[in-house]
Amino acid sequence: WSLCESEEEQVAKPVTLLFALRRLWNLVEDDRWVIFVAFGALIIAALSEISMPSILTESIFSAQSGQTTVFTRKSQLLVILCLTSGICSGLRSGCFAVANTILVRRLRETVYSTIISQDINFFDREGVGDLTSRLGADCQRLSDIIGNNINLILRNVLQGTGALINLLMLSWPLALSALLICSLLSAIFVVYGKYQKKAAKVTQDFTAGANEVAQEALSLMRIVRVYGAESKELGRFKQWLDKLASVNMRESVAYGIWNLSFNSLYRSMQVLAVLFGGMSMLSGHISVEQLTKYILYCEWLIYATWRVTDNVSSLLQSVGASEKFLQLMDLLPSDQFSSKGVKLQILMGQVQFVNISFHYLTRIKVPVLDRVNLSIYPNEVVAIVGPSGGGKSTLAHLLLRLYEPINGQIYVDGFPLRELDIRWLREKIGFVEQEAHLFHMDIKSNIKYGCRGDIKQEDIEWAAKLAYAHDFILSLPNGYETLVDDNLLSGGQKQRIAIARAILRNPSILILDEVTSALDSQSEDYVKGVLHEFKNDIKAKRTVIIIAHRLSTIRNADRIVVMDSGRVIEIGDHAELIRKDGLYSKLVRAQAEGLV
Ligand code: ADP
Repeated sequence: WSLCESEEEQVAKPVTLLFALRRLWNLVEDDRWVIFVAFGALIIAALSEISMPSILTESIFSAQSGQTTVFTRKSQLLVILCLTSGICSGLRSGCFAVANTILVRRLRETVYSTIISQDINFFDREGVGDLTSRLGADCQRLSDIIGNNINLILRNVLQGTGALINLLMLSWPLALSALLICSLLSAIFVVYGKYQKKAAKVTQDFTAGANEVAQEALSLMRIVRVYGAESKELGRFKQWLDKLASVNMRESVAYGIWNLSFNSLYRSMQVLAVLFGGMSMLSGHISVEQLTKYILYCEWLIYATWRVTDNVSSLLQSVGASEKFLQLMDLLPSDQFSSKGVKLQILMGQVQFVNISFHYLTRIKVPVLDRVNLSIYPNEVVAIVGPSGGGKSTLAHLLLRLYEPINGQIYVDGFPLRELDIRWLREKIGFVEQEAHLFHMDIKSNIKYGCRGDIKQEDIEWAAKLAYAHDFILSLPNGYETLVDDNLLSGGQKQRIAIARAILRNPSILILDEVTSALDSQSEDYVKGVLHEFKNDIKAKRTVIIIAHRLSTIRNADRIVVMDSGRVIEIGDHAELIRKDGLYSKLVRAQAEGLV
C-alpha cells in the first residue's frame, strides 16, 4: 500500500549542525551576497579590534618614554582602527539582521508549503498547536543559527585566535598556560552543551504541548464554559507547565554549575597572568609594556573563550530546537499534489465502490469500512443513512481521496480513482461538511473560496439563492461584503453559506455530509428545496450524495443506502425499505417516536 510505503520512506534523519547550515545556505540562494558582505565586515572588524590592545599599549608607553612621533603615529592608527571597527561592526550587524529577516521569511514559507501539501493522515497525527509553534519560535531559532550564532562565534573565534597569537609572540610558556585553562573551560562546556541541546529539544516539545492545550481550550471556550471545565482545562495546561518547569529547573542547576566552573577558571587565569607575568618581569624576561599587553590579551582570550562557549551553547540549542522543524521541511509532499493523472472532458458523476475496506492510520486496530460495495449512477440522488460511526462520512472522504482505501477500488465514471488527476476531480466535487467552517474573510470571498479566476457577483448571488442564503446575507450590515467573525452567523446560516460555496463550483457530484444537523426544521425544508432546485437546475445535471441523520430530509431520494458498522446492509427507495422492515424502517419508527 503506497501510502504506508511513502510514510516509511520519510524516516527522520538526525539533524547535525552541518545539515542545518546546508539547508539554510540553500534557502538564501539569491541573497548570499548579504552574508558574504556580513562575513567580510566581520573579519575586518575583528582584526581591527584585536590589534587595538597592542597599539594602545604601545601608544601609552611611547608617550611615557617621550617618543612623540611614535606616539602620534600610534594614536592616528588607533583612530583609524576605531573607525574601521565601528563601521564594519555596524555593517556586520546590519547585514546579519537582513539575512535573518530573509531567512525567517523563507523558512516560514517553505515549511508552511510543506505542511499544507501533506496528506490528511499527517494532520490526523500532528497537533495544530505543535505545527504553529514550529512556524513561530522554531523558525526564529533556526534562522538565528546564521543570523546570530555563527556570526558571533566567528567573531569571537577570530578575536580569541588573534589574542592567542599575540600572547605566543610575547611569551609562549605564558600563552600555553592561558591556553590550558581555556581548553579546560571548553571541555567542561562540551559536557554542558550536550546537556543543553537535549534540554532545548524537550523544552520545545513541552512548550508546543502547552500551546496546543491552550489553543484548543481557547477556541472551544463556549463548550468549556457550558461544561464548567475551566479548572479541568487549567489542570491540563498546568500538567504541561509542570513538565516544562522541571526541565527548566534542571537546566538552571546545570547552568549554575557551568557558571561556577567558568568563573573559577576565569579568576584563576587572571591571578595566573599576574603571577606568571610578574615573575617573568622580575626575572627580566619581559618588560612592563609586554606585561601590560600580556594581561590585556589574556583578558581578551578568556573573554573570547567564554563568548564562544556561550555562542556555541546557543547554537546547539538552536540546532536541537530546530530538529523537528528541519525534519518537517524534508517531508515529501503528498503525491496528490502532482498534476499527474487523467482529466476527463466531462464528469458524468458515476461512482462505484468495489470491495472497499478501510481503517484510519491513527487507529489501525479499528476497522471502519468492511468490504463495501456500492454503485451510484449519474444524476442520482443517493442518501446514505445509518447509526453514527457506521462509516458514512469516511466513504465521502475516500471519494474525495483524502484517504486511500486499504483494499478495494473506487471508480469514477469507470476510471480507477487513483488514475484520475485528483485536483481536477476535487474541482468537480462539491463537499459540505456537518460543521460548516468559514474563513475570516467577507461573505463574498467565503462563497467564492473554491473558485479560480474572476467570479461575477451575479454568479455568487445565484449560488447563494440556490442555497437559500441570499436573503439573510442582504440583511447583514454590509451584505455580501460583511466580514465573517466567530459570532456573526448561526450554525444554520454558516451551513447555507457553505452550501453556496459548494454550489458555486458547479460540481458534477455534490456531497452533503449531515448538513441538516446544524439546521432548524425551517432550514431543513430549505435544504429539501435546495436539493430539488439544484437537481433540476438547468446549468448542469449532477449526482447528489446526502449523508443524513434526519431521515425526513431524504425520503424523496432516488435510493437510500443503509450502513451499519462499516457495511452496507440495505439499499432501496423509501417505500421498499419500509416494506423490508429492516434497520431503516426501525430508524424511521424511532425518529417518528422521537427516540433518536
Ligand atoms: P459516520 O459518518 O457514519 O458517523 P464516520 O465515517 O465519521 O462515521 O466514522 C467511522 C469511524 O471512524 C468512527 O469510529 C470514527 O470514530 C472513526 N474516525 C472518523 N474519522 C477519523 C479520523 N480522522 N481518525 C481516526 N478515526 C476516525
